[in-house]
Amino acid sequence: MNFKMSISENIKEIKSKLPENVTLIAVSKTKPVSDLMQAYEAGQHVFGENKIQEMEAKWKEMPKDVEWHMIGHVQRNKVKYMAPFVSLIHAVDSLKLLREINKQAEKNDRVIDCLLQIKIAREDTKFGMTETDAMDVLASEEIKSFQHIRIVGFMGMSSFTDNKAQVTAEFQKLKTYYDSLQQKYGFTILSMGMSGDYLLAIEHGSNMVRVGSAIFGARNYS
Ligand SMILES: *Cc1c(COP(=O)(O)O)cnc(C)c1O
Repeated sequence: MNFKMSISENIKEIKSKLPENVTLIAVSKTKPVSDLMQAYEAGQHVFGENKIQEMEAKWKEMPKDVEWHMIGHVQRNKVKYMAPFVSLIHAVDSLKLLREINKQAEKNDRVIDCLLQIKIAREDTKFGMTETDAMDVLASEEIKSFQHIRIVGFMGMSSFTDNKAQVTAEFQKLKTYYDSLQQKYGFTILSMGMSGDYLLAIEHGSNMVRVGSAIFGARNYS
């Protein structure tokens, strides 16, 4: 990834390419609060993190009008740490997890928006549900009793490949599935696209993109 500009310039550049209906999530995992504050001051108030406790620590430090999105795999025993403040949970992959989110949301007197993560990539390593799993969850009796969650759409991650035709096919598949259920369930959000493929994802119907390295530069996990 080409990273020569500042965080605020990167945000300006990316936002200039996004249609009005597309929400930009600045994926700030591993990055220090000082970097997030640069983005915040450039007008970016929506952040995505993939570790609940890291997100909680940043939530405590950052201004209170920030919207926090959990984009990573969620462990049930950690839902309680984000239930007081999380805006959207992107990667819900089971009824069991929804049950816990509903319970913790109720304790906080909140309704928490969730996306079901649908597996679209060919790799086995990615989390997510099959379309059949998702149908079973959406149609289940139990879900109707959950008063403290709202399933507002789907999230997907494409394969990690330069093969544009394959990635396109994966995005198209999820868009078709989303469209087939959108009216019935009142979905409003289709979260797909990252630094390397967000424009392609938007072309194929995404209205929420999760962009990290193109804003903050490469991550250092060491
Ligand atoms: C890290 C991450 C991103 C952002 O990745 P970049 O390639 O840095 O834009 C998006 N979505 C999820 C689920 C992630 O874990």
